[in-house]
Amino acid sequence: MSTTYPNLIDGQRVDSRERTPDINPSNVTDVVGEFARGGSDDAGKAIASARAAFKKWSRSTPQERFDVLDRAGTEILARKEELGRLLSREQGKPLADGIGEAARAGAIFKFFAGEAVRVGGEKIASVRPGVEVEVTREPVGVVAAITPWNFPLAIPAWKIAPALAFGNCVVFKPAELAPASPWTLADIAQRAGLPPGVLNLVMGPGSVIGPALASSPDVDAVTFTGSQDVGPGVAAAAVKAGSRVQLEMGGKNPLIVLDDADLPTAVSVAVNGAFFQAGQRCTASSRLIVTEGIHDRFVDATVARMKSLVIDDALKPGTEIGPVVDQKQLDKNLEYVAIGQKEGAKLVEGGGLLERDTRGYYMAPALFTESAAGMRINSEEIFGPVASIIRVRDYDEALAVANATPFGLSAGIVTTSLKHASHFKRNSESGLVMVNLPTAGLDYHVPFGGRKKSSYGPREQGTYAKEFYTIVKTAYIAP
Ligand code: NAD
Repeated sequence: MSTTYPNLIDGQRVDSRERTPDINPSNVTDVVGEFARGGSDDAGKAIASARAAFKKWSRSTPQERFDVLDRAGTEILARKEELGRLLSREQGKPLADGIGEAARAGAIFKFFAGEAVRVGGEKIASVRPGVEVEVTREPVGVVAAITPWNFPLAIPAWKIAPALAFGNCVVFKPAELAPASPWTLADIAQRAGLPPGVLNLVMGPGSVIGPALASSPDVDAVTFTGSQDVGPGVAAAAVKAGSRVQLEMGGKNPLIVLDDADLPTAVSVAVNGAFFQAGQRCTASSRLIVTEGIHDRFVDATVARMKSLVIDDALKPGTEIGPVVDQKQLDKNLEYVAIGQKEGAKLVEGGGLLERDTRGYYMAPALFTESAAGMRINSEEIFGPVASIIRVRDYDEALAVANATPFGLSAGIVTTSLKHASHFKRNSESGLVMVNLPTAGLDYHVPFGGRKKSSYGPREQGTYAKEFYTIVKTAYIAP
């Protein structure tokens, strides 16, 4: 019998009539748990409970909020192996990555514990005699946090921790595909001392719970991370309901490799960025833009490295890449492999199904060469281990191709030229720029977000998070 996980509403465990099984993608016969499948009623109850709790929580002292977040961070860090294992089991990323993500979630809670006691304001001289002006920050109110399945601990942490640190109450809706680790995170935060209603968790179909949160006039802010298909609808509903909204969505991230690159660095950065975590990172490099002088050497060395990749059960020691998350994502990846071939790109490695000891969603990472910028494989987010090489003449053409996309999340360059690295940092149309590093892989204490169609609204993470989770008040005083 698998464990059942109820919704967490108003400090209570609330079960539902229907449940959704959480399946291990490395071994589809392993059911991680049965999760409540709530409806819009549950979302409504959670919003009402958060609204009621806001009165007191918004007036709690910074020290009280520090204590809760710090305690939660300590427990997450102490349980990082267990949480990481749960994450890897339900999502399919290798155990080291799961544990790393759990540790990151703990660090994020600790960071925002500190932010809770650092909230400041400004005192500004008035242009009028005898008047003083103060600018202060206050909590926004009830925050709805809607998250994807690919970072089921880190993304919830970087939304929930700042929301709570600044005195907001939260209704959290994790993705259906990986609910066990976010459920455990919410349970830890709850037990760290949050009053009932300050943090609620509602699981259920995204198409039901999501709109119930985004369109509610009792929600003050909606923070969403997910696909380009869903994000704009969330924003439209939130704006209609009068809520502030923040979206982080997909990417089609370029990695440029120049003739002067160190070849081993280029291969390691490309293989990590394109294929690790099965390409299921919004910051994954899916377009490898390579200048002609290094092209053939880069292709040969990358293919050789790909042949040595260990693709297996996420929990097995030595696994470098686990399965993809589910059958739907697997089918989508294979469809794009076929599309690339039809479009005339050359599949030089991988792209097929793999069999392992257990039945899971395993595929060999796919690499295309001879691909052109306008092809669908170079324009649409695949969100799997599929990457293509676009051969270009020189840096100028590489930059133009890199920027020729509606997305703008992350972009990288591998070069030993300071001139090109500096020019790329200034001229890349993306929110994140990486030099001699994979396009994926971030620090937790600095802002994160994209440009163009990848993002909407203020940045997440680091001290910049306060722009979304606080509202500014300007007070005039004649003492
Ligand atoms: P998704 O858009 O399908 O789902 C995201 C969340 O929205 C889930 O919780 C889902 O249940 C919910 N949802 C579904 N329908 C909804 C609706 N109609 N209204 C409101 N909410 C709804 O995305 P996913 O498949 O979970 O995640 C993969 C996507 O997330 C990729 O596109 C990836 O690039 C993106 N992503 C972006 C970032 C970033 O920070 N830019 C980070 C991670 C993932």
